[in-house]
Amino acid sequence: MDFQFSEEQKIFRDAVEKFARNEIAPTAAAREEAGEFSFEMWKKLCGYGLAGLSIPVEYGGGGADAMTTVLAMITFSAACRDLSMAGAWGTHLLLAAMPIAEIGTDEQKKKYLPVMASGEWIGALGLTEPEAGTDATSLRTRAVRKGDEYVLNGSKTFISNAPIADVFIVVASVDLSERAGGLTLFIVDRSCPGVTTGRPLKKRDGDSWPTGEVFFDDCRVPAANRLGEEKTGFTHMLTSLGWERIAFAPFVGLMESDLNLCIEYAKQRVQFGKPIAKFQLVQAMLAEMKMDLEASRWLAYHLAWKKDRGEFIGLDAAIAKTFITEAAERSAGKAVQIFGGYGCMREYPIGQSLWATKLGVIGGGTSQIQRTIIGRMLTGM
Ligand SMILES: Cc1cc2nc3c(=O)[nH]c(=O)nc-3n(C[C@H](O)[C@H](O)[C@H](O)COP(=O)(O)OP(=O)(O)OC[C@H]3O[C@@H](n4cnc5c(N)ncnc54)[C@H](O)[C@@H]3O)c2cc1C
Repeated sequence: MDFQFSEEQKIFRDAVEKFARNEIAPTAAAREEAGEFSFEMWKKLCGYGLAGLSIPVEYGGGGADAMTTVLAMITFSAACRDLSMAGAWGTHLLLAAMPIAEIGTDEQKKKYLPVMASGEWIGALGLTEPEAGTDATSLRTRAVRKGDEYVLNGSKTFISNAPIADVFIVVASVDLSERAGGLTLFIVDRSCPGVTTGRPLKKRDGDSWPTGEVFFDDCRVPAANRLGEEKTGFTHMLTSLGWERIAFAPFVGLMESDLNLCIEYAKQRVQFGKPIAKFQLVQAMLAEMKMDLEASRWLAYHLAWKKDRGEFIGLDAAIAKTFITEAAERSAGKAVQIFGGYGCMREYPIGQSLWATKLGVIGGGTSQIQRTIIGRMLTGM
């Protein structure tokens, strides 16, 4: 394994750090409080080339590999603590654009990737349904072929970016009786007749990264918008998981930011006549946060490194996703504990991490199902 960053990667990392710190961080807390997605900040992020970072250069993207993308995402969220913007960015790029880049036809790539690379169009992924969460293969959204079109009927929920998305990667079934075997991917424009989105869902971690429902009511999607062959949706979702799992990298950045804030706070908060940083039990919490942070960072790099080598990463993806998100949740709990009562107050940013990291251990496959996947892979049973 060689995780040595090139000079180019180091320069890029430093530039992303400066950009996030100077351009995004100053207004992050106020935007979080206001609870609205900021198109102004999104445009800044796009202007910096981040919206299309890993999209191939020939389609207007940055052509970055997985390692550079991970590095940028960790650096960005550590520098600006804007998990909403990082979440919207990761969803758009890794859950919506990269599946098109990896399995789309030339026409699909030419039509969608340039507008997604520039960020003019925002993407989302619609898999989860009200009755199909962990058991995604029981979804009910149907796609029936009629001539040159598919007619989609069904609904999706908890879809990140749904209220602001221009295009959705939708998982539907062409044969409900086959469950996983019937799943097929479609690229569905928001402007497609029969597509509607519900009101944004109110989230515990705030509303500046919008999440919502999407409804398909006799929605006629051109057959040319099928992504991959019929009945290959499940396989494609497994193989493009590498990019999707990288979307958890911002949690590593959040852990880094939480730790830095905690060290600073522990050194200046005085109790019993001395900074609380002198108490070994406080030091133990900081030490555990640091151990979780570094283990998570290396797991994220390892996953990206394998992805860039074209190695199958199913087991690594499940391990990295589970460990990183659970470490982030543990770390967020300790961070609030170190801040004591102030950690529970909205005027201090630290508590925001608690609910944000809870999403990590639920979204993209819960910790329970990840353990099940890891166990099955280990035993073959
Ligand atoms: C903020 C947010 C954003 C999201 N964004 C998206 C998105 O962009 N696109 C998208 O498609 N989805 C998205 N999701 C949905 C997310 O992927 C699902 O919430 C998740 O897969 C869990 O499904 P569920 O909520 O229906 O829980 P359920 O599947 O009902 O699970 C409930 C509990 O039962 C456990 N459980 C279920 N089955 C098993 C089993 N076999 N063994 C052990 N335990 C089990 C679960 O681990 C969990 O603890 C998002 C969710 C949230 C909260």
